[in-house]
Amino acid sequence: MTHNPTSTSCAPDSPTAPEAQTAARWAESAHLHDVEALARALGVDLHTGLAPQEAARRAALCGPNSLAQVRRRSALALLAEQFQDFMVLVLLAAAVVSGLVGEITDTLVILVIVVLNAVIGFVQAWRADQALAALRQLAAAQATVLRGGQVQTVPAHTLVPGDVVLLEAGNQIPADLRLLQIAQFQVDESALTGESVPVAKQSAPLPPQTGGALGDRSNMAYKGTTATLGRARGLVVATGMHTELGKIAQLLDTEDRSTPLQRRLAAFGRRLALVILGICLVIFAAGVLRGEDPLRMALTAISLAVAAIPEALPAVVTVLLALGARRMVAFHALVRRLPAVETLGSVTVICSDKTGTLTQNRMHAELLLACGERWTPGEPASPVHAEALRAAALCNDAVRQKSAENGENGENGNSTEEERNEDGAWLGDPTETALVLAALSAGLDKVALDAALPRVQEQPFDSSRKRMTTFHRLPGGGASAGYVAYTKGAPESVLPRCRSQWTPSGDAALEKSAVLAAASALAEQGLRVLALARREHARLPDTNDLAGVENALQFLGLVALIDPPRAEAAAAVRDCQSAGIVPVMITGDHPATARAIALRLGIVASAEAPVLTGKELAELDDAALRARVEQVRVYARVDPAQKIRIVEALQALGHFVAMTGDGVNDAPALKRADIGVAMGRGGTDVAREASSLVLLDDNFATIVAAVREGRRIYDNIRKFVRYAMTGNSGEIWTIFLAPFLLLPIPLQPIHILWVNLVTDGLPGLALAAEPAEAGIMRRPPRPPRESLFAHGMWQHILAVGLLIGGLCLAVQAWALHTGHAHWQTMVFTVLTLTQMAHILAIRSETQPLWRLGLASNLPLLGAVLLTLALQLATIYVPALNPIFKTQPLSWDELALCFGAALLVYAVVEVEKAWRRRRACAARTKVAEPHYRPGT
Ligand code: ATP
Repeated sequence: MTHNPTSTSCAPDSPTAPEAQTAARWAESAHLHDVEALARALGVDLHTGLAPQEAARRAALCGPNSLAQVRRRSALALLAEQFQDFMVLVLLAAAVVSGLVGEITDTLVILVIVVLNAVIGFVQAWRADQALAALRQLAAAQATVLRGGQVQTVPAHTLVPGDVVLLEAGNQIPADLRLLQIAQFQVDESALTGESVPVAKQSAPLPPQTGGALGDRSNMAYKGTTATLGRARGLVVATGMHTELGKIAQLLDTEDRSTPLQRRLAAFGRRLALVILGICLVIFAAGVLRGEDPLRMALTAISLAVAAIPEALPAVVTVLLALGARRMVAFHALVRRLPAVETLGSVTVICSDKTGTLTQNRMHAELLLACGERWTPGEPASPVHAEALRAAALCNDAVRQKSAENGENGENGNSTEEERNEDGAWLGDPTETALVLAALSAGLDKVALDAALPRVQEQPFDSSRKRMTTFHRLPGGGASAGYVAYTKGAPESVLPRCRSQWTPSGDAALEKSAVLAAASALAEQGLRVLALARREHARLPDTNDLAGVENALQFLGLVALIDPPRAEAAAAVRDCQSAGIVPVMITGDHPATARAIALRLGIVASAEAPVLTGKELAELDDAALRARVEQVRVYARVDPAQKIRIVEALQALGHFVAMTGDGVNDAPALKRADIGVAMGRGGTDVAREASSLVLLDDNFATIVAAVREGRRIYDNIRKFVRYAMTGNSGEIWTIFLAPFLLLPIPLQPIHILWVNLVTDGLPGLALAAEPAEAGIMRRPPRPPRESLFAHGMWQHILAVGLLIGGLCLAVQAWALHTGHAHWQTMVFTVLTLTQMAHILAIRSETQPLWRLGLASNLPLLGAVLLTLALQLATIYVPALNPIFKTQPLSWDELALCFGAALLVYAVVEVEKAWRRRRACAARTKVAEPHYRPGT
């Protein structure tokens, strides 16, 4: 191996990294070389992969296999952003000017308060950034590699040159690879080449004159592209920034991170800011006209503008969404796009796969039916049963994993479930592991079978074809030697391709209709039924005509597998129904199996419920489908491509659709759905990329839990907005109305800023911890376009704000009238206390506080008590009196302030009681649910 000191690689200066340097050099021309030569150059044995220690050593030298991220906002930049608000700058300027001509303490206190405000803003933004970064980390891609002779799943960023990667349809190509073995492998390279038609790959070296275009390198697979069909193995030749994608990777992270709600709030905030500025201008003018000091009036008006303009709303919404998204990870829902959190509450239909989502995906074979004879696992197998079991074990991609350390890993992306037996775990699609174990129970070991009848070619499973075929070399050699092909798949997909019934003594006639009837009868019991078939070939068929050779097959038998519904699914279906959400099952499985499971889960109420099959669906035009889609709860034998039509039909009727999916073909429907939901364990990278929510446990109940959490978070955002804006409205009313009532300006600028700081900071954020409202899953979904301020929130903000302002002014007028010298301290205190009372009262939109209990949101209780303590400190700590321009209040003065707060609390409780009564009356009136009840 020659070293090239000038080559740039992942470790350019390291003489200890010949493989890495070689990789960089060979990566350029990898398509021209023989795989064996390349493997030797990269120091790897293609049969065992790199040793784990060697992979770790190379990782240390080469760095992570990731693209240099667009730099995260640094803490300093984040802090600086907090001071960029125009009004804050104006305030600082005004404070400095007033300090120069008057009291320096005023200026200092204002500066301190502004800094504290910035710190709170910084902490909020930082927490949001952290939460988002943690989510991105969780969503990071995985890759399946061969290391130390073991197949294992590792984070894609740990790949190094020399790794042998296993790929299958749906995988994102994790690094630049030279392909070594392929089976019908196709790659969508549009991300790199712009070519939207998937490219068929091969593994032979290309002639030296092959052009430099990536699209011409048919034996390479490049990072960032996706496998759409088949399976392959590839040798990593370049990682990270050395990949072709890395070379053009400035395009990352350009996605707009703000959510629709944030954008709407920001736009609304800008309009509101203008109104508030107008009001502040009026206040300033009125004050000056009344002979107040213009500088003081300017400071008051600007302070009010700073306090009342809700510039922090979008940031707080991010915090609430991001914290909510983090909480959702705890119950296995990973949010990939933040806006999904706020829109989850609007879902009206959840379209879910059956296998693994509504069912456990822990399959076992119940029986095998061949030539009219039943065989059940554990029994000795007759010759025809044995041949069927051989087919089941050989036409099968499950792999045995001896070591227990990779318990969570699977060789292929659809395959994280595992079955253990005494020899170790079988990894693979649960349907297939169940078949391997069934064969084993009859003494047929897949490992021995694979050795005796090695697979030489295959037509992989694909959920549109619903079958797969593998080709095996028969032992013996000589003239009699040939090949046997085994096919397994859905009975309707396999039987039409069968010619006869195989028996050990020769072919027999095949009663296809009787077999299909038997398959239906098994499916009606909720069993998953597969047909098995074989065919011998003298020569290995042409790879291009594989579809043609899945013909004239010899039928072997039907195997029926049990896949029980998940225990929690039925309750989740009930939750959905009470929350006005319609659960719909869309499956590739047999209609009878689908109906039986749907009935058991309560998705349909009777065994006569209509089931629409993919074939029937294909015959309906869009209008006809729209006419049916609201009655159908179960779709069977549906191609993934048809899911998109179901989504569109539902959306055309005004539904907000969540749709699950796991395969490559599901991606368009996942993208089209309002909330695409991908499977975290069994799903493909492509499906995950296309979705906004990933179920880490593939469980239907998790979607329902996510919807519940989405509703809670949205409620809390509304509560925050209600609380913050009512407080602001109270402050504005107080200062705006005072001159009209011939009262002096009630508050100092410091008071206004202080109230804004202590009330908006902690208590507002503590609303993130507010538990879900009682009955949150008993109310209908929120219309997606409904305003955040719907259901009387505007009126509440204005009216309760007016009440707070009125109470402040009443206290001021009374204190002035009765000669209390502490009137300003009293107004200051009333303003803080009423806001604390208000936040406690609006913890629920309907339930009274005494039913919630103060202890049900301890962070909020703590924040309120802390705010009270701080407020009392400004009044009663002598050192703070001159700073805050306060005086200690007497007991009766303080009692009056608390009385005012109590009044605000009482009025809001009355408002809620009124709303409860109205909701109750409305419920009795609603007779017609949105979606017709299940048949
Ligand atoms: P769902 O869509 O709810 O996940 P599903 O697993 O039945 O259900 P697909 O994976 O599309 O959906 O499978 C469709 C049909 O193809 C199955 O009902 C089965 O008959 C057949 N099938 C599934 N897996 C295999 C396999 N590994 N080999 C051969 N045939 C299979």
